[in-house]
Amino acid sequence: MNEQGKRVHREEPHHVLPSPDGTMILPKRLKPAPFKTRFISPRDHDTARTNDEIHTSISFCPVVRAIVDTRVFQRLRGIQQLARADLVFMNTNHSRFEHSLGVAHLAERLCKRLQEQHPKLKISHKDVLCVKLAGLLHDIGHGPFSHTYEVVVKNALPQYLDDHPDLKEHYAGYPKLAKDWCHEKVSLDMIDLCLDELGLQIDYQELDRPLKQIGDGLDRCSMRCFNSFKNEIDDFSITKVHYNDDDDILTSRDFCFIKECILGRPLPGFKDFIGRTNMHKEFLYDIVCNRHSGLDVDKIDYFARDERRAIWASGEIETLMVDEAVVAWAACTAERGSCPGCDRPEHKHHKHHLMICYPEKRIPDCLRFFKKRYTNHDTIYKHKTTRAGQLLMCDILCQADPFFRIFTPHPFVKRGPLFPQKFEKLPLSLAMLDPYVFMDLDDSIFELILHSPDPRLNPAKKLIYERYKSRKLYKCVGWEVIDRKDEIGMNIWKKSESQIAAEMLTMGGEHRDSDGKPLVLEKEDFVLDKCSSNYGSGDKNPLEKMRFVRREDMSTHKKHRPAEDLPLAILFDEKRFSTELPRSFESNIIRVYSRNDEKSDLVGHVFAEWIEKALLGKAGIFSMTSDPEEVDDDEEEDCKLPPVELSQESIPENYREFYGEDDDDDKSIAL
Ligand SMILES: [Zn+2]
Ligand SMILES: [Zn+2]
Ligand SMILES: [Zn+2]
Ligand SMILES: [Zn+2]
Repeated sequence: MNEQGKRVHREEPHHVLPSPDGTMILPKRLKPAPFKTRFISPRDHDTARTNDEIHTSISFCPVVRAIVDTRVFQRLRGIQQLARADLVFMNTNHSRFEHSLGVAHLAERLCKRLQEQHPKLKISHKDVLCVKLAGLLHDIGHGPFSHTYEVVVKNALPQYLDDHPDLKEHYAGYPKLAKDWCHEKVSLDMIDLCLDELGLQIDYQELDRPLKQIGDGLDRCSMRCFNSFKNEIDDFSITKVHYNDDDDILTSRDFCFIKECILGRPLPGFKDFIGRTNMHKEFLYDIVCNRHSGLDVDKIDYFARDERRAIWASGEIETLMVDEAVVAWAACTAERGSCPGCDRPEHKHHKHHLMICYPEKRIPDCLRFFKKRYTNHDTIYKHKTTRAGQLLMCDILCQADPFFRIFTPHPFVKRGPLFPQKFEKLPLSLAMLDPYVFMDLDDSIFELILHSPDPRLNPAKKLIYERYKSRKLYKCVGWEVIDRKDEIGMNIWKKSESQIAAEMLTMGGEHRDSDGKPLVLEKEDFVLDKCSSNYGSGDKNPLEKMRFVRREDMSTHKKHRPAEDLPLAILFDEKRFSTELPRSFESNIIRVYSRNDEKSDLVGHVFAEWIEKALLGKAGIFSMTSDPEEVDDDEEEDCKLPPVELSQESIPENYREFYGEDDDDDKSIAL
């Protein structure tokens, strides 16, 4: 951050601006309001520049600077991008903060590229600023430990409460979270909160006016793009002409557009986009969150950033995906419902609209881009030890949640009508019900749990203290790669983790430890983890969702065509690129982790038995209700562990591999 960028409170009345000759100019349409407001302008202390590992240098225009310096945005510094993957890859402690700045930077760059490439599409400076702000704010709704919080809220905690129904009473009086809750939705609230902090608010009644001034903070008319005169004039020389150029002031509609870009679909309660209704600007929605192909600047940034941090790769972004993007007419590839444009009457005949496309010759580069997704998932995000850390974090959050409460009254918060206080306290998993509470949450949450006096939190505190803090992660004691292409594989993959766990628990056989003491496998002893890494479209080729422009349509003399004359993009032709395509676009693996160090061998053993049966297609014989002895008579065995008393042939390969492996198989990268 720029250290010189100190805020100076200016003493002039809030509604007037000095001009170079000292006269005061009253900006158009601005009535004095009963608030203390500040103008921002392209002067030094309102802008900033920072060094960045991926983009070398990122500069902040005044609006970006103002938003970055809000509490709501600064909070992202405390949320790691990869949910403690640094327990495995030491340097991956980068935060959502730097990623967000990177995405803003790339969003602007891609937008400017399209602006330059297609002058007739009339992409305005303000369009560029809005898309950039969408990039800046796209992850502002993430909770502690990024996606881990989302997984806990949506899957792990509901499952945990189903397993422990007695705990449900601790949620009496709280509403249930909507099924489609996601961090992008929280982002919408957090944007409102961010504006609130600046004394501003979106006014849905007056979409085309500047934001509503609701308190002290930034003057609403200085929320604008300054491109048009930044380079023309010197510091402090804000002229009447430019300040009266209302077209450059961000309106309520612009902030709706920003929200829509992040959500990737119309805002809740709206059937269609309201931010940019001009169908010739629809492609702007696909820059930050691409509904059509999944190739967007969010991914361009984090693929490079995460890889750089984890395995010290070059950190080079896929420049071609930014600098060679073009706009062309294309048949929609979006999933149903996410592209309202295609349901508009004017689309009825051709179902085509303007989309971000790439020159045909970039097909191999696009494929490489999606392959990077696969590789990052396979080697970093879904690495077996990264997942071990995240499973532990899930357990801690689930065990703490029924008892841990965050109190909502806040000594400094002046609540506006937007988010009134509805609850006195909230569980972590429902913190998003009060954005003022959510704003206080980051990765430091375990410290709050650890230092909270409630004895009912002891199991969670014990996990934090004895495992998390000393990196005693759950041990992966078995795994199996599942091929969904064959029927047996597909049937195995269809089972949920809790289904597999239940089947493992009904496996027959008596087991003893090396001293001959009987061992019984219990539900709490292990946790299953189904991980899928793919090219971005499940088992499908992601390029099927992309559109390309033919070589002959790319020539530069055709560049200045109006929207109607832009070329029609073509589909990916599999035959022409068969040598480039992998045999499979996904890999799926089921892993089992032991939560109980004394029973690690037993867990691995029972999983191996389970997978052996499942692969023979016999998994269907398991039943949760029937007595294991009855079902499994002839397979019953008495096993001493270790060594495992199974014939070598009957042990699935991975299982053998595991026992043959060095215990500390992560040592090349582990801490
Ligand atoms: Zn995100
Ligand atoms: Zn992101
Ligand atoms: Zn579409
Ligand atoms: Zn056995």
